[in-house]
Amino acid sequence: MGGNGENRSSKALSRRDFIKCSGLLGGALLASQMEWATDLMRRAEAGLLTPEEEYELIKAENILHTVCLQCNTGCGIKVKLFRKNGQAVALKIDGNPYSPFVSLPHTSYRVSPFDVSPVDMGICPKGQAGIQTAYDPYRVTKVLKRAGRRGENRWMTISFDQAIDEIVNGGRLFSHVPGEENRVITGLKEIYALRDPKIAKEMADGVKRIAASKDKKKAVEEFKTKHAANLHSLIDPDHPDLGPKNNQLVYMWGRKKGGRGDFAARFFGDYFGTVNTHGHTTVCQGSLYFTCKAMSEQYVGNKFTGGAKFYWQGDFENAEYILSVGSNLFDANYGPSNRNLRLVPRLAEGKVKLTVVDPRFNKAAAKATRYLPIRPGTDGAFFAAIIRWIIDHQKYDGKYLACANKAAAKVAHEPTWSNACLLVKIGKDGMPGKFLRAHEIGLAPVEKRKDPAGVEYDFEYLVVMKEGKPIAVDPNDEKTPVVGDLLISTEIQGIQVKTALQIVY
Ligand code: SF4
Repeated sequence: MGGNGENRSSKALSRRDFIKCSGLLGGALLASQMEWATDLMRRAEAGLLTPEEEYELIKAENILHTVCLQCNTGCGIKVKLFRKNGQAVALKIDGNPYSPFVSLPHTSYRVSPFDVSPVDMGICPKGQAGIQTAYDPYRVTKVLKRAGRRGENRWMTISFDQAIDEIVNGGRLFSHVPGEENRVITGLKEIYALRDPKIAKEMADGVKRIAASKDKKKAVEEFKTKHAANLHSLIDPDHPDLGPKNNQLVYMWGRKKGGRGDFAARFFGDYFGTVNTHGHTTVCQGSLYFTCKAMSEQYVGNKFTGGAKFYWQGDFENAEYILSVGSNLFDANYGPSNRNLRLVPRLAEGKVKLTVVDPRFNKAAAKATRYLPIRPGTDGAFFAAIIRWIIDHQKYDGKYLACANKAAAKVAHEPTWSNACLLVKIGKDGMPGKFLRAHEIGLAPVEKRKDPAGVEYDFEYLVVMKEGKPIAVDPNDEKTPVVGDLLISTEIQGIQVKTALQIVY
């Protein structure tokens, strides 16, 4: 914080006071405060604040820099508060100049908030509607407990303390509901059965041994004898693979980014010890995640694995051509505030061309260079046609795709390399199978190597074809460059093979 900021900061309210005021933001306004707050909010929405009130909103000490959770984009926002007599109400939400999501370029963190406070960046209408979410009269701000039979939709409010007590200790929690007088609910305390990490590890190792054993029944009996003192902590001692009772706590969440997600994983996984922590992403976005993961997989231990980068994003700030398929750039898609900031100025200046492929004429289509109203269900054919055209007209980057290993990429001044020229075995049904190994055609024997954990294994070379001759290749080799021909469909020693690029032709 600069000297200027320090001076003014000394006059500002303390963090404790600020948090006390901020407490009103969570929809917890008392009836006496409600009238005051509602009047302010109405006048703010109508643009009828007095100049004095407007001035309050640009004071740094009245601004909360935080993150919008109205959608999964998580834009940086600044919430402007009006404070009076120890009360505070959020009146306006704008983009946070410190946030790279909504500000390009963003303000350095070294700049004092006192110098930045008059600067507002844009956010989408949904983000601005966060005020309505915060003060929605129907917002649930208390713990609701079922008061009637299931489905009767009758609820009672209980205190947080009571809720925690009941969730942790369990008991006859619904004795007030006819028919459930004696129903005992298990509390987390009871499910938190296995607490000793050493014993947990020993039992987990034992389960691995059962999995590896050929005589499972015998292995389970041995396990039960060895861990007799702790079998009570298991869900089912006859099925140790189900794990400890701790696994009966299932933690499911929606969207969580780094920070919140890490905290939850640590609490439920590392501390409580349940394996049942499940994020939202199963089918949803799976195609993106798994494709991206596959794109960054490396040849380790004779297979392509360990894709470390599962989330790739287009570079809207530098792209010259954007093909948008099934993503509504100006409505959503990570998200309007972020995308528009990067896309719209370049679109307006003619620096990027945008083609929108969508059955619906969406907002992005209205601003696109070209709109393709595709028929639903024909996306696959559309992409197959594009790939075909690119290959037929040699519009691919052959120099890059020919690099079969790290050494070749280095020579070509490429940061990465691909599997485009590697040979893949083709089955009798014409379908692609595994990559051809050099030892399968007597080209190069397997080699004894050690994996990162120091365990010895038989390394298998892969194969490319160069000017009619197969060449063995180690994709991770940094010393001997290997390049391959890209469009190959042939037979080697009775094995049908195609290059990876040929397969997509
Ligand atoms: S795109 Fe809009 S709703 Fe989503 S996080 Fe950003 S401001 Fe909030």
